[in-house]
Amino acid sequence: MIEVHEATKVYRRGRTEVRALGGVSLTVPRGQFLSVMGPSGSGKSTLLNLLGALDVPTSGSIRIDGQELSRMNDTALSTFRRERLGFIFQFFNLMPTLTAVENVMLPGLLAGRSSAPLQASAEALLETVGLRGRAHHRPDELSGGEMQRVAVARALLTQPALLLADEPTGNLDSRTGSEVLRLLREATRERQLTVVMVTHDPRAAAVGDRIVRLADGVIVGDEPVHEQAA
Ligand code: ADP
Ligand code: ADP
Repeated sequence: MIEVHEATKVYRRGRTEVRALGGVSLTVPRGQFLSVMGPSGSGKSTLLNLLGALDVPTSGSIRIDGQELSRMNDTALSTFRRERLGFIFQFFNLMPTLTAVENVMLPGLLAGRSSAPLQASAEALLETVGLRGRAHHRPDELSGGEMQRVAVARALLTQPALLLADEPTGNLDSRTGSEVLRLLREATRERQLTVVMVTHDPRAAAVGDRIVRLADGVIVGDEPVHEQAA
């Protein structure tokens, strides 16, 4: 599913160079839920940006579903992002003027799909995340946990193959965060979706199948998560 081979990323700021990634190799099989941990500045966001085709590596290669990202032109990349990837962010990134169901429909509308079937899919997804009664609320009428559940539903709308989550519980209290993660875990498992989630929270990371640890732009740990007795 994901094959990262010796990826490096060097940022140049004037005359100084920052090596954000120093040769990362990583294979993530389809359906795996991978948590990426590491201190601030260790390269987690950089790795996520490379996987999301939002940035290009300085050297090395990134293949997703057999497609080498560096060989795709801008049009192909934006189609790939829109159709194959789902994103979840720390601050939800919902459109404040749209209702929950409209927010969930938005990626489909932007992809040119017609409104009526989209609305039905969006409503079904809101039900999946336990928000049936909130479909016509705007973000400022929802709690943080509810906003993130809307964001989960939105990320699933286009039936992506890969979901990238950047600190999805970073702005939620721990109980709300665990609920959102449980939903995310169930929804992605049912759909055989691959997930890469960056998190600082060890309890959040343990929801996944595997934890990769970064420090100074390299992988310093890679372990399976042991199933916990419920
Ligand atoms: P993390 O997500 O683990 O906090 P990042 O991937 O954001 O780490 O950053 C890794 C390193 O790259 C840091 O030293 C950071 O300052 C640097 N960096 C990240 N983005 C940029 C950028 N756009 N320009 C310059 N340096 C950057
Ligand atoms: P939680 O404790 O789950 O984070 P809150 O205590 O923030 O949730 O909210 C509890 C309920 O009140 C939620 O169902 C939410 O939809 C509703 N709510 C929160 N803020 C607003 C608001 N500004 N307007 C209308 N309803 C709200």
